[in-house]
Amino acid sequence: MFRPVRGMKDLYGISVDKYACIVNVAMRIGKKYGYSKIKTPIVEYTDVFQRSIGDETDVVSKEMYTFDDKGGESLTLRPEGTAGVMRAIVSENLAQNLPLKLMYHGEMFRYDRPQKGRYRQFHQLGFECIGDKSPYTDVILICMAIEILNSIGIFDVKVLINTLGDSKTRSDYTKALVKFFSRHEEKLSEDSKRRLAKNPMRILDSKIASDREICQMAPLITDYLSKESEKYFEKVCNLLERSGVNFELDNFLVRGLDYYGETAFEFKSDAKDYTDSVGGGGRYDQLLKTFGGTDVSGIGFAFGIERLMLLMDNSRLDKNTRKVAVIPVSEQENDVAFQMLQSLYSADINAEFIHIGTMSKKMKLADKLHCEIAIILGENEINGDKYTVKFMNCSDVNEKTKTVNKNDILSFIRHNLGC
Ligand code: AMP
Repeated sequence: MFRPVRGMKDLYGISVDKYACIVNVAMRIGKKYGYSKIKTPIVEYTDVFQRSIGDETDVVSKEMYTFDDKGGESLTLRPEGTAGVMRAIVSENLAQNLPLKLMYHGEMFRYDRPQKGRYRQFHQLGFECIGDKSPYTDVILICMAIEILNSIGIFDVKVLINTLGDSKTRSDYTKALVKFFSRHEEKLSEDSKRRLAKNPMRILDSKIASDREICQMAPLITDYLSKESEKYFEKVCNLLERSGVNFELDNFLVRGLDYYGETAFEFKSDAKDYTDSVGGGGRYDQLLKTFGGTDVSGIGFAFGIERLMLLMDNSRLDKNTRKVAVIPVSEQENDVAFQMLQSLYSADINAEFIHIGTMSKKMKLADKLHCEIAIILGENEINGDKYTVKFMNCSDVNEKTKTVNKNDILSFIRHNLGC
């Protein structure tokens, strides 16, 4: 028996309905905020991710699916969406009209340890806004994310927020971190020791308990902020407060990717049975330039769709699944029933054509397919001016079967299916 690859899932049934509902809601709301869709390839040259996300991040150092293609080029299955979108903006010369607002959704791949809400193939829904640096832009983006969550019935989410400052801030802070972590070097994990030399801020992102304990005592970035970054972040917090956003400062939030600067945030679930992050993002000042584009700032975030699926309210799903069965009594009525089926489809009514087997088999199948109404077409119905209609789930014998004038059949079905 073949099984899907570990950490990768088949999506079918209600999972696909949930996926579609989340994407539809998000894209509708994104459009309202001025975003247009982009689809980039799932595979990019490895350099696209390595250069932007950073060598010392877990994503690049441990989690990427990287392989040489038959021509010997090193390619990588995308572990996140932003880098590919930035590469596309430069390749396709899209940054001529700024601000540029793009949204996407699709598969991402990370060789991570599979568990609830964590997979090796998962889906993200992301938004990127380029060339519009202002605290207002940051807060509008965060409010849009919250509107998306609320629209799929997710309310138990808190925004954790931090600033990573400008490049002067990060350079001063990095020096302070080197000084601090050097004093604790012998207790750091091997990964963190390496990061101390290469990228000390990444130590703050370590998931190892002993590292985390040391991190609790580390200097705070807020003490190293440049005047401009401090003012910028204060305004962001002030606007979040005014917008009624449920947020909390988290001075150790550095995000798992290197390209962030200034505002960084994560959406953390407060739901009883799932308390991990459902999404995150932040501002990036150098990213487009890294790909050879213009020196403009951007901000973006991504939700993990599987995590939204875990938390969403299923009553938000498209209810238009009620359907009717068209059942000819014998083969003689097949053609007329087939015609009836087509008129139902033309009227946008969900329908199944059930014409094989005995009458009892056909009724059983209609039941199994969750048809709520069956239109029965026998000799009487073909020759007379009425159709026989059965309500499949009705237990009252007097109400179960009705006859309907042929001319009224479509409006009768519409009325009874509520469509
Ligand atoms: P990140 O940029 O790494 O914080 O990822 C953004 C969001 O993607 C996270 O908040 C999760 O919702 C989702 N995500 C990241 N990695 C995974 C994974 N391995 N499986 C499922 N969802 C993930």
